[in-house]
Amino acid sequence: MELALRFLGAARHVTGTKHLVEIGERRILLDCGMVQGPRRIADAANRELAIDATRVDAVVLSHAHIDHSGSLPRLVKLGFDGEIHLTHATGDLASVLLEDSARLQEQDAAHLRKRGVIFEPPYDPADVVRTTRRFRRHRYHEPFDVLPGVRCEFFDAGHILGSAMVVLSIERGGRTVRIGFTGDHGRKDMPILRDPERMPAVDWLITESTYGDRVHQDHDSMAESLAQVVREELHDGGRILVPAFSVGRTQNVLYELGNLMATKRIPKLPVWIDSPLSSKATKITSAHRDLFDKDARKVIESGREPFFFDGVRFVEDREESKALNGVREGVIIAASGMCEAGRILHHLKVSLPRPADCLLTVGFMAEGTLGRRLVDGDTEVNVLGEPQRVRCKVRSILGLSAHADWRELCDSLGHLAPTATRVFVVHGEERQTLAFVERLTGLGFRDVVAPRHGERFVL
Ligand SMILES: [Zn+2]
Repeated sequence: MELALRFLGAARHVTGTKHLVEIGERRILLDCGMVQGPRRIADAANRELAIDATRVDAVVLSHAHIDHSGSLPRLVKLGFDGEIHLTHATGDLASVLLEDSARLQEQDAAHLRKRGVIFEPPYDPADVVRTTRRFRRHRYHEPFDVLPGVRCEFFDAGHILGSAMVVLSIERGGRTVRIGFTGDHGRKDMPILRDPERMPAVDWLITESTYGDRVHQDHDSMAESLAQVVREELHDGGRILVPAFSVGRTQNVLYELGNLMATKRIPKLPVWIDSPLSSKATKITSAHRDLFDKDARKVIESGREPFFFDGVRFVEDREESKALNGVREGVIIAASGMCEAGRILHHLKVSLPRPADCLLTVGFMAEGTLGRRLVDGDTEVNVLGEPQRVRCKVRSILGLSAHADWRELCDSLGHLAPTATRVFVVHGEERQTLAFVERLTGLGFRDVVAPRHGERFVL
C-alpha cells in the first residue's frame, strides 16, 4: 500500500493550508484553508481547490482560523461527503467563522454587482450549514478512527482556543506509521490558553514555519503595558481604540482588562466589544473554560467572570455602534484587526483627529494595511474613502504573536529528531520556510524539505 503526501496549499506560502494524505486509494485532507490575498489570485485558487472533492474520504481540521478552514464549504459544494474531524471548540468557532465568511462573500458580490461586475461567491450560507453537519467533534487525547486502520489523536497546540496538533497512526504491513502535523503552533505563557503540548514520536512530521527566521521580542507583559496606557489615557481624558481580531486577541485584551480592574491596578472603566462576531467568539471561549490555563481557572474559581464583568458591553446592532461616537472615555475593542474593514473604521474616523484619544494596536499589522500606516506614523491616511489627519496617539503592545518563533519551535519539536525520518516545512513565506529547513537540519533532523505547491512525496 502506497503512502504519500501531497501539498496543495501553504507550501512556501502562509495561507490556504491543504495537505493531502494518500493511503492507497484512500485520501485524508489535513485542513482546507482559504487562500487570502489579492482577489484575482485568491479567487481562482478558492474555486478549484486543486483537488477532486469527491475523492476525499475524510478531513481533519487543526483549528478554526479561516486560512485553515475557510474552503471547507467549497469542498462540500464540490461533492465531498465524508466526515470532518475537529475538537469541540474548533467546531464551535469554525461554525461562526464560516457563517461570517459566507456573509462577507455575499456582501462582496452585491457590492461588485453594483459596479457591473458579476461575481459568484465560492459558497453561500446554505453550503456552510451542509458543512457544519459533517463536523465530528473530539477531545484532546481521545484517539478516534478517521478511516478503518487510521487512528487520529489531537494534542493542544496552544495557538487559539481548540487548536490542535494532529497525529495520524496508520496500519501498514503489520506496523504502525505515524504522521504528525503541527497545525499552527502556539507559544508558552499566552493569556487564557494552555502551553503547547509535546508531540509524541512520529515517523513523518509536517511543521509550520511562520516565523522560521525570526525571534519574537520579549513578551511585553500585556497586563503592565495595558495598565500604563489606560492610566495615561484616563489622565488625558481620551478614549482608547483597540483594533483586534474577533477570535483570540479580543478575548485576550478583555481578559487582561478584567484582571487589572479586579486587582485595582486600573480604575473601573467601560469597555465595549463592538463586533457581533467578537461577541459570539467570546461566548464560545467562555463556554470552553475546561480548556483554560491555570491562571484563567483561578479567576473563575475566585467567582469572577473572565469576560462578562461589570462595565463590559457587547454591541450588537449598527445603531448602538454609531452611538459610540459620543463616547469620550473608556475602551472600544472592534474588528478588523488590521483596520482594513469593519466597525473600527467608523471609530477611527472620530478618534484620529482628537489628540486626547489613543489608538492601541495589539497585533501584527501587515504591509499595505491601514493599521500598518498608522503604526508607521503616517500623519494623514484615508479612512472610508476620506482623507483624515492623525492627531491621536498611536501606541503598540508588541510581542503578542500567537505563533511560535524559530527558537520556540525548535524547543518544542527537537525531541522528534531521532524518530522522524522526513520533515516537511510548510506555512511560511519562502524565506522563513527555507531558513527553518536549515534550523531543523542543524538540530539533527534528517531529510528536511520545503515542498512546492502541488508536490507529491511517497513515504
Ligand atoms: Zn491560525
